[in-house]
Amino acid sequence: MQQFKNLREMMAAYSDENVCREYMEKMRWGGNPTCPFCGMNKPYRLKNGKTFRCKDKECKKDFTVTVGTIFENSKVKLSVWMAAMYLITGHKKGVSSLQLSRDLGITQKTAWFVLHRVRLLMNDPEPDVPLDNIVEVDETYVGGKFENMNCKRLKHHRETGKDNKTAVMGLLERDGKARLTVIGNNTFKEVILNNVAPTAEIMTDSHLSYTGLANEFKAHEAVNHNIKEYKRGLAYTNSVEGFFSLFKRTIFGTYHQVSPKHLHRYCAESSYRFNSRKISDADRFQFALSNTKGRLTYKQLINKI
Ligand SMILES: [Zn+2]
Repeated sequence: MQQFKNLREMMAAYSDENVCREYMEKMRWGGNPTCPFCGMNKPYRLKNGKTFRCKDKECKKDFTVTVGTIFENSKVKLSVWMAAMYLITGHKKGVSSLQLSRDLGITQKTAWFVLHRVRLLMNDPEPDVPLDNIVEVDETYVGGKFENMNCKRLKHHRETGKDNKTAVMGLLERDGKARLTVIGNNTFKEVILNNVAPTAEIMTDSHLSYTGLANEFKAHEAVNHNIKEYKRGLAYTNSVEGFFSLFKRTIFGTYHQVSPKHLHRYCAESSYRFNSRKISDADRFQFALSNTKGRLTYKQLINKI
């Protein structure tokens, strides 16, 4: 298997469809192809080289390496998928579908489809593992610029008096991973309880919604930004604020506007980028590709320096 250090080397080494396929087979199965329908090993490889046939007498199904992955049933060439994944996972602030279509010479419609599928690989592979130790928590609000609103929405906004910004909570374990989540109809406390272990020490600002957390967790410290207090020993929220600024640059700089309906996807994408910021683009690409199988854990991803 050829190694590569950057996009140019990857595109040079993996321009041929068969070479791409072999690479994906290796990444997905590690040399031991498995039927995605019944889990049986050692399928027959058919003459065309890319199709396998399950040797289980009941199953006997045909499959290729893309079955059950984001690449399934797509007319996009594997070499284009690979280059797209490299670009999408590598860019610090994300790539728009327009940019992707220009970079790869594909239509914007295809680029949009590719972008959304690749984003699925950037979801947290361990969403149920709670953050622990020292966890910084803060909230931010995105969306809802009046000048971008059409008349109907503006009228609705005035009549209901509802703030049309969406609240997003950032949770960051110091020296660990970070997570962004849309607050929705939950209280701040519910979101924190869903994402953080009771053994953790929580650091927040003095927002009233954070009061009472000391009863649920090992400790809770709050810094009072109103009196210009930003750091008191271990109590500060600077790291989670840095995470927010990266998130906001992604949303405003690259995607310009994001509807609340899709916001959770951008939260996941920004978290993924933040959590893998210490590894190389090539490693990040390989992690995304292997994520369909889940062979690498998130811990391995973020601890690699
Ligand atoms: Zn089978």
